[in-house]
Amino acid sequence: MHLLAADESFFDSATWTVSRNLALLAVVLVWAATAYWVYKDARRRVDDPWLVVMATLLGVVPPFLGPILYLFFRPPEYLDDVRERELEIRAIEERLAEHDLRCPVCRGRVEASYLVCPVCTTRLKQACAECGSPLERIWQACPHCATPVPPSLLADDLLQPLPQSRRRREGRR
Ligand SMILES: [Zn+2]
Ligand SMILES: [Zn+2]
Repeated sequence: MHLLAADESFFDSATWTVSRNLALLAVVLVWAATAYWVYKDARRRVDDPWLVVMATLLGVVPPFLGPILYLFFRPPEYLDDVRERELEIRAIEERLAEHDLRCPVCRGRVEASYLVCPVCTTRLKQACAECGSPLERIWQACPHCATPVPPSLLADDLLQPLPQSRRRREGRR
């Protein structure tokens, strides 16, 4: 009887009220923090603003259970990572396209350094008179040795097959 009275006085006491209020405040703070976390996380993963609003509402209600449900259904990747991956894929595709050079005559695969198509012997590029580097058709000077490209070199024996004698000589090699 005496003990019960002591308990009652404890629950009525100011200490109890304060601890209860502090505990409630802590629960509300954690609830608000989880909801805010859902909002922040959804913004980094979801493109559509309306879906971000829906996810945030789910983070608020039901308290604590909502964020756990959100964890199950959120997109697996951050938008930044998705964009970065798309950029990387595009860069790889561009690099592949650069390497996918073809002979304009036989469509055989050639490389940027080839002077002649090895399949059909079409002249693809002129060689620099000084250092022998392959020259792109619009170049006015060799980028490797700074020799100007004479206009005679730009003559149109490009895209023609090699002369027969040279073809035979090269065939023996
Ligand atoms: Zn060819
Ligand atoms: Zn050169």
